[in-house]
Amino acid sequence: MTINTSCTVTYSPAYTIVPTYECFNRCSYCNFRTEPGQSPWITLSAAETVLKQLQDQNICEILILSGEVHPRSPKRQAWFQRIYDLCELALSLGLLPHTNAGPLSFEEMQKLKNVNVSMGLMLEQSTPALLNTVHRHAPSKVPEVRLQQLQWAGELQIPFTTGLLLGIGETPDDCWETLEAISRLHQNYHHIQEVILQPHSPGNQQSFDAPPFDPHQLPEVIAKARQILPPDITIQIPPNLVKDDQWLLACIEVGARDLGGIGPKDEVNPDYPHIQEQALREILQPAGWELLPRLPVYPQFDDWLSRELQKAVRQWRKILTPTSLLQEQKSTNLPIS
Ligand code: SF4
Repeated sequence: MTINTSCTVTYSPAYTIVPTYECFNRCSYCNFRTEPGQSPWITLSAAETVLKQLQDQNICEILILSGEVHPRSPKRQAWFQRIYDLCELALSLGLLPHTNAGPLSFEEMQKLKNVNVSMGLMLEQSTPALLNTVHRHAPSKVPEVRLQQLQWAGELQIPFTTGLLLGIGETPDDCWETLEAISRLHQNYHHIQEVILQPHSPGNQQSFDAPPFDPHQLPEVIAKARQILPPDITIQIPPNLVKDDQWLLACIEVGARDLGGIGPKDEVNPDYPHIQEQALREILQPAGWELLPRLPVYPQFDDWLSRELQKAVRQWRKILTPTSLLQEQKSTNLPIS
């Protein structure tokens, strides 16, 4: 790993833009979606107003997080174009887009590669058993569709973030198999930069009636994931879903090294506000962990980006690289983000 030296934990200063909350899937644990046609799409001018306010705030990542329009819907092309245009807009303002908009066609991914420094899609769980329960009405959650997406990302050399949703009815063996599937794909393409381990955390909107994933089990899952995943994949946990400071530290002790995008709102888990940077620092520092900002693309993937994207990334590396890390790099030739 590059930036993640032994006492360093990273996060991405991020802001989430939601093109639309409408989604044709109905995952029973969802706290994000609205019915198709009931969520007006964000306009480019509204997005521009928001994004312009972010300039000079050291927010580098723009997470474009969208509900899904059915691949055969007459609205699909316009939906895709809106996402593409939002990425272009963010780039034109010097911000770095990372899109997560559900499964895309190979051609859609190929196009979005031109305007994203990285992309993402949660694999969640690879067991088809969940298609009879939480994913009964969610065609996008067919495991093969999502595994295919991860493979295409590899073929297209798109730096990619994926992850597991924990506590939605899977068994421990299902988890290990999901991690092994990610691991196998990474060994073929070397394109997975992070794996998120996201504990199910009930929200106000969902119909899935199940307790939250026990955060006390998370360190054990992380330790096992660390054994299964190749060492160049960073394990990410969302600190707002762990809550207890001691358990957050326990997760880090066993191998989690990234806290994901930190911004004003967690759109996927709106009932769990993000813990902001200073509060995180106050938890981590006394235990000897340094919290550092990172970009949405890890440095080992810069060569995969177009020249234009590389230029935008270089600007941010200068801004977000702390002096202490620069000095460390000089003495160890350590690549930094
Ligand atoms: S979890 Fe994602 S795919 Fe499932 S209903 Fe919600 S927005 Fe749609």
